[in-house]
Amino acid sequence: MKLKRMKLKQVKEFDRRGSATHEAGHVVVAAVLGVRGSAHIWETDTRQPYQEKTVIGTASFLLFPRPSKRTLGAVGIAGAIAELMADPKIDDYASQYLIEDWEELVGNTLSTTDLSLITKGWKARQSAADKTQEILTDFARQHAAIREELIEIGDVSDGTVWDTVHGGPASLLP
Ligand SMILES: [Zn+2]
Repeated sequence: MKLKRMKLKQVKEFDRRGSATHEAGHVVVAAVLGVRGSAHIWETDTRQPYQEKTVIGTASFLLFPRPSKRTLGAVGIAGAIAELMADPKIDDYASQYLIEDWEELVGNTLSTTDLSLITKGWKARQSAADKTQEILTDFARQHAAIREELIEIGDVSDGTVWDTVHGGPASLLP
């Protein structure tokens, strides 16, 4: 939630960080599930920086062979969960937190594309949230640096934030 007392520069930084982390999350989870992709962010030219996003992004994937519906569901929700993981105010990103805040998540950090992937992949949205949380938690355990990596992506990324098709910033990935 953007606050009115933020200066425009802070608003842009807030949006850049959020979008970078979000899109990287999609690509990280896809990579864990065997799907390669890349994420990009860019500035919008909105005239309403307090109401609309000043930085947006997208993640795209190589969809051959066709991933399972469950995989697509996990990829769909991963952006929103990555934002939670990289939030320094949140120490415990256990599934309990996510489930409690699911409605808020749907209202805020899930795009309509994200939602359509999730509902395609799972009949119950909550189990989609659970499964993806599990994947990200496992990933964080296997690669202790991943949470820090997401935070760092939020710190510095501009343009291409993560790319498992061409290598580069995704060197941590298996
Ligand atoms: Zn998304």
